[in-house]
Amino acid sequence: ASARVVVIGGGYAGATVARSLRASDPSIDVTLIEPRRTFHSCPFSNLVIGGLQPFSVLCFGYDDIAATGVRMVFERAIRVDPVTKTVRTEGDLDFHYDRLVMAPGIEMIWNAISGYNEAAAELMPHAWQAGPQTLLLRKQLEDMPDGGVVVIAPPANPFRCPPGPYERASLIAHYLKTNKPRSKLMILDSKEYFSKQILFQRAWTEIYGDLIEWHGIFDFGAVIAVRPLERVLVTESKEVRADVANVIPPQRAARIAQISGLADETGWCPINPVTFESSLQAGIHVLGDASNAGAMPKSAFSANAQAKVCAVQIARLLKGKPPIRTKLANTCYSLVAPGYGISIAGVYEPGEVLIDSIKGAGGISPIYASAKFRRLEADYGASWYRTITEQVFG
Ligand code: FAD
Repeated sequence: ASARVVVIGGGYAGATVARSLRASDPSIDVTLIEPRRTFHSCPFSNLVIGGLQPFSVLCFGYDDIAATGVRMVFERAIRVDPVTKTVRTEGDLDFHYDRLVMAPGIEMIWNAISGYNEAAAELMPHAWQAGPQTLLLRKQLEDMPDGGVVVIAPPANPFRCPPGPYERASLIAHYLKTNKPRSKLMILDSKEYFSKQILFQRAWTEIYGDLIEWHGIFDFGAVIAVRPLERVLVTESKEVRADVANVIPPQRAARIAQISGLADETGWCPINPVTFESSLQAGIHVLGDASNAGAMPKSAFSANAQAKVCAVQIARLLKGKPPIRTKLANTCYSLVAPGYGISIAGVYEPGEVLIDSIKGAGGISPIYASAKFRRLEADYGASWYRTITEQVFG
């Protein structure tokens, strides 16, 4: 009988591994379990929030994946039994696996910020999982009068997409500058510094003047509570009333990974850095944001790269061959304004227990660069998005 691989989660990691497995070895029977028929991409969602792109650029179906021979099951996985090697879905279907790939992304840790629960997210959207939350934040910005205050509250590390909150701040500032120029944007950060900080802050001053005000944790302390009905954020030393509040709470591996015993006390899933097999459960590989991939950031680029490597390793392991050590890479593009892009890149290799960064490889965009250079990077970011979504979902 052909080997069976079940994949939980049809996002950047899961959809990639399902396709790559079929491409590595068409004899492998691949089932992809995903509750939603339309995937909403987080990459590029900041452009939708800033009004630069329509929501439709984020939406992808699974027909082309099914056409590669992947069996699509549009249900939520609710239980994994590592002894009988079975996944149970919400609709009471059971799927047996020889190897399982867990790629369910993240969940918010509700009430880590006191009062910030699912109901609060309907008033103060996180928009950190794309879809209705993206549209809600966009609508709130559209409804806000000129002269309003937008507050973004990013979490401490590690979290999904380290430069994401700052790209979002940039593109909201672009919207405010062009539509509601008397407005302000305040970032109440729960950390001391952030990804590509020098590039972002120089560009902010250059393009947006004093529209964006960033406060590291040393200014007012972390955001510890919210009062959603009043749109108030409470830090350790200050209360701030917002007209639009974008609260991005701390995160961890999604629920199915937690209840399957794959996550440790950090909330993320430890893995073997060569094969991505869980350190806690044999036969289960964890990819993408849910995993603790060491120095690799939680990005769609990383999820996609990890998934391609993992597919090769699973195909080899199923044939009784040893895994091979490979290097991995990541690039995160951020758009600071239309035609103004910046990036950060890294190269990684498996270490003893974690995936380590290769020193001296990678880096950030130059601090001083011409307008043409920034425009080129904006173009690279757009073509990266077209290419990855075509490769994963097209
Ligand atoms: P996801 O893409 O979230 O996919 C997880 C899937 O699992 C979902 O489809 C979900 O429905 C499914 N699922 C969950 N639970 C279950 C279950 N029980 N059963 C079955 N299925 C389940 N990254 C970049 O590289 N570049 C960018 O420019 C970029 N921009 C970003 C901007 C923002 C605002 C944000 C929030 C993120 C951005 N990212 C970017 C990060 C990127 O979105 C994530 O790193 C990436 O989506 C991780 O992929 P994943 O497959 O692990 O998770």
